[in-house]
Amino acid sequence: GAPPSSDDVAEAIHVAYDRSLDLTDGAVADYIPELADTSPDLFGICVAEVDGTVQGVGDVDHPFTIQSISKAFVWALVCEEIGDEKLIDLIGVNNTGLAFDSVMSLELNDGHPMNPMGNAGALATTALVPGDSPDEQWEFIRKGLSRFAGKDLELDEAVYRSESASNQRNQGIARLLEGYGRIGSNPLDVVDVYTKQCSLLVTATDIAVMGATLADGGINPITGARVVSETVCHDTLAVLAASGLYQNSGEWLFRIGLPGKSGVTGGIVTIAPGKAGIATFSPRLDAAGNSVRGQRATAYLSRRLGFDLFASR
Ligand code: GLU
Repeated sequence: GAPPSSDDVAEAIHVAYDRSLDLTDGAVADYIPELADTSPDLFGICVAEVDGTVQGVGDVDHPFTIQSISKAFVWALVCEEIGDEKLIDLIGVNNTGLAFDSVMSLELNDGHPMNPMGNAGALATTALVPGDSPDEQWEFIRKGLSRFAGKDLELDEAVYRSESASNQRNQGIARLLEGYGRIGSNPLDVVDVYTKQCSLLVTATDIAVMGATLADGGINPITGARVVSETVCHDTLAVLAASGLYQNSGEWLFRIGLPGKSGVTGGIVTIAPGKAGIATFSPRLDAAGNSVRGQRATAYLSRRLGFDLFASR
């Protein structure tokens, strides 16, 4: 259908906010010590349309680390470099039904990471980032994600240090990948670059623009610059539809009808292809790791704005 007017969007954002604000279920992630102090009450919603209109309500300028949401954009950048067929082969695109940090999924699948949104597949994807050294790979990621956001993104040193001191599980997954012959470079270097990519600071506004770039066939609607190709956008959205919301990706698709990606800091970016990027930020998470308010707010926006891809009209 036709895109909603910007007044419709503004009103819908406010209603979505009001209807989700009373939700206080869920808990702030604390497995990375530095995240435990995050205020649980933060809440922001932002919609960035492909015509460049950006509207939001609440804590849309509050910085948080991007965490798992980075996986979608790093995969897109790597796909642009090495192509989708190679990535389907090396990383896969099927959901595992298991938690994001599952070790078992690797054991069950002969060391194949299955998809790039779980940590195994995300680490294997980061290992494929171009660059002659971990520093060059990190710069490639930081610059690439900055192009998606339309601004220079920076590292949160405190979260990076905190996660580096507590990411033994990711180190284990990377070692296991190495054992299966699925990581060519030093696995601990890969974990370090991955931990940096997770520690990039963004706001809800930033991830809305990043989502809008995927919605707009790879052109950032704010800067007008092409970040990735249309094919890569298509592929990224398909990957997100299958596994963007951890092991609850099916339920998300059922309720929201759009590809999205969540992270443990409470962000969710959702993409309405050809129309908009929707961002929510609220740190209280359900058992699968998805923001409780974010899910309700996005479900409302998707229905209200006619974005659900499975709706007949
Ligand atoms: N840096 C986090 C980890 O790998 C990302 C988790 C997430 O947001 O799902 O544990």
